[in-house]
Amino acid sequence: MSLAGRLDPRRYSRHLLIPEVGLAGQEKLEHARVLVIGAGGLGSPALAYLAAAGVGRIVVIDDDAVDVTNLQRQILYDTADVGALKAHRAAERLRALNPQIAIDALAKRFDAANARELVRLVDVVVDGSDTFSTRYLVNDACYLEDKPDVHGSIFRFDGQVSIYGAGGGPCYRCLYPEPPPEELVPSCSEGGVLGVLAGIVGSLQAAEAIKLILGIGAPLTGRLLLVDALDMRFREVRIARDPACPLCGEAPTIFDVGSVPERAAPRATVPELDLDGLDAALEGGARLLDVREPHERALGDVPGAVAIPATVLEARMHELDSAKTYVVACRVGTKSRWAAERLKEAGFGRVYHLRDGLLALAARDAAFDLF
Ligand SMILES: [Zn+2]
Repeated sequence: MSLAGRLDPRRYSRHLLIPEVGLAGQEKLEHARVLVIGAGGLGSPALAYLAAAGVGRIVVIDDDAVDVTNLQRQILYDTADVGALKAHRAAERLRALNPQIAIDALAKRFDAANARELVRLVDVVVDGSDTFSTRYLVNDACYLEDKPDVHGSIFRFDGQVSIYGAGGGPCYRCLYPEPPPEELVPSCSEGGVLGVLAGIVGSLQAAEAIKLILGIGAPLTGRLLLVDALDMRFREVRIARDPACPLCGEAPTIFDVGSVPERAAPRATVPELDLDGLDAALEGGARLLDVREPHERALGDVPGAVAIPATVLEARMHELDSAKTYVVACRVGTKSRWAAERLKEAGFGRVYHLRDGLLALAARDAAFDLF
């Protein structure tokens, strides 16, 4: 649908007043195509701002229906929408918000069969999905089709935003070579999420998408923005491309979508320690094993801990002594459980897992600051 020459100057007057946007920028938005994957907590604010901004064509894909538990954060929906397909309802709301743009609503899954074609048809992709498998799929399709993947994720009070795919920065696989098993990563449906955090992070994604379309400012490529809504702190971590990345590295092994790293299913049970238990264990000679990823560790080092990221634990397990006692810890106490189980399976006899992670430790010990 071409709307050239019909751009409504009154609707966009507050954009037209900004020198960096102006009429030329507004026309760029009008001719832009954005794919939003997921019309949930992140997708709701992202879609609303993209539509309000006058992005000429928005493709929204989501196979889910509105549930009453969504209404705490998924602001595109009303109480009366419960049971309706999100893609359809979102499209109605966005058309009402801005009838001058085109909305394509796809009430289906973003999967390996449609990923590359959908990504190829647009200029920018906004990933509002909430599973690891979809995030890898979005990342891979965007990298292979040379399109920016404006990524966001949220959990409880913590949010992350970055841009993967096109632009020369690292990809999602550079940061997360392998996903932890999904049953060990509490989703928002199990672990909870502050509703308004979805609004903050989804809006940041929309802002990045709009800047990419306009070609202004500095995009979050190569930078991971970390949002802590509890202490209301924003921090940025530089992230680099991994030369060993199977997708964007020097000797790639992934040339198409559909490859999601698999994790082993069998799980050993690992006893959990609270902070008092941790103190007692350390007193007794145990070592604290910090399995956070390097970009998480940049937010606060644990003195005296052995640091091996969970994603490379299996390759580096030989650095540990299976006769010793280890208390495994990560940021919130999810990856650490998984990592502790891997150690147990590998024959480590005395392995514990720190409940609620290093955030709990930081909350107790003023000397240990952890963003
Ligand atoms: Zn990569």
